[in-house]
Amino acid sequence: MKDFYTLSDLRRWQEVTGDVSPPIRLAVFGDPVIHSRSPQMHNAGLAERGINARYCRLHIKEDELEEALALLPKAGFIGANLTIPHKVAALKHIGKIAPAAQAIGAVNTVVVEADGSLSAQNTDGPGLVRAVQSELGAELGKLRVAVLGAGGGAGRAIAVQCRLEGCPRVVLLNRTLEKAQQVARELGAPAEAVPWTPDTIAGILEEVDLIINATSMGMKPGEPSVVPAEAMRPGLLVYDTIYTEDHTPLVAAALQAGARAANGLSMLLHQGARSFEVWFGGEAPVEAMRRGLTASKQA
Ligand code: NAP
Repeated sequence: MKDFYTLSDLRRWQEVTGDVSPPIRLAVFGDPVIHSRSPQMHNAGLAERGINARYCRLHIKEDELEEALALLPKAGFIGANLTIPHKVAALKHIGKIAPAAQAIGAVNTVVVEADGSLSAQNTDGPGLVRAVQSELGAELGKLRVAVLGAGGGAGRAIAVQCRLEGCPRVVLLNRTLEKAQQVARELGAPAEAVPWTPDTIAGILEEVDLIINATSMGMKPGEPSVVPAEAMRPGLLVYDTIYTEDHTPLVAAALQAGARAANGLSMLLHQGARSFEVWFGGEAPVEAMRRGLTASKQA
């Protein structure tokens, strides 16, 4: 199996991959895609369950998405995951979208149905719910939550999930305030948009149980924590969706403040586990998938 395939390979799938065993029947579409750890995670799950299929990377450019999706049934695919830049654009090419994904306005999991049509859903939100449970020992729906970066793709998915779970308070902050206001208008009370200033952050952190970082601040080496340690307190729960390192700047600052914190690797794992369940039913082999994910990090 190659590190990644392209649209031109997908057009001649049997010819190009006919000698790969087990056959490749799942993929992640992205641009770029080479960094994706999804194959290691899903292939570990497929092997654990004894399923005769493999999962690969497909480098699909923005203007290739429609054709690539249309080729999936003929190429014998079970489904696919979508990452940047396809999560929003795919909505217009897929016939059946789950209601929660419609509300989020983005999909990350595609299913090839028995009749060859496509359906899609979004497992990022459910993945976060499980991650908060497993890493922070808390039930998302019972928490007062502040979402930093609520106007971005991941932040929006998280904000919608907070509303679906019934969180008693959902405070939306975004560098560009209008985007958070738009999400708050769509979700309605108790979601509210608040301007992001050092003063508002300090006040909000006194009034919530959990803060979730859905900005990309902290991904690049040397970037500071999106919230300084001084603004956090013992007992606060902190979830950083970034997973570039174990102690991301926010996780490090939170631990320094005595807060309980986790990075985004568990969200990646659980959104993948949920996708696996969408494709195959039953419970995903989460521990095998976790081992696959961590092994790939070391590779
Ligand atoms: P996106 O749609 O481009 O959104 C980026 C967000 O970050 C926007 O809200 C943006 O604010 C904000 N932002 C960027 N630079 C900032 C800065 N210097 N200060 C404050 N805010 C800043 O990206 P995305 O796809 O949602 O991804 C966002 C993050 O979520 C990434 O770190 C990604 O790794 C993570 N993520 C993790 C998982 C997981 O499974 N763990 C899944 C999906 C995403 P403006 O609106 O003002 O530009």
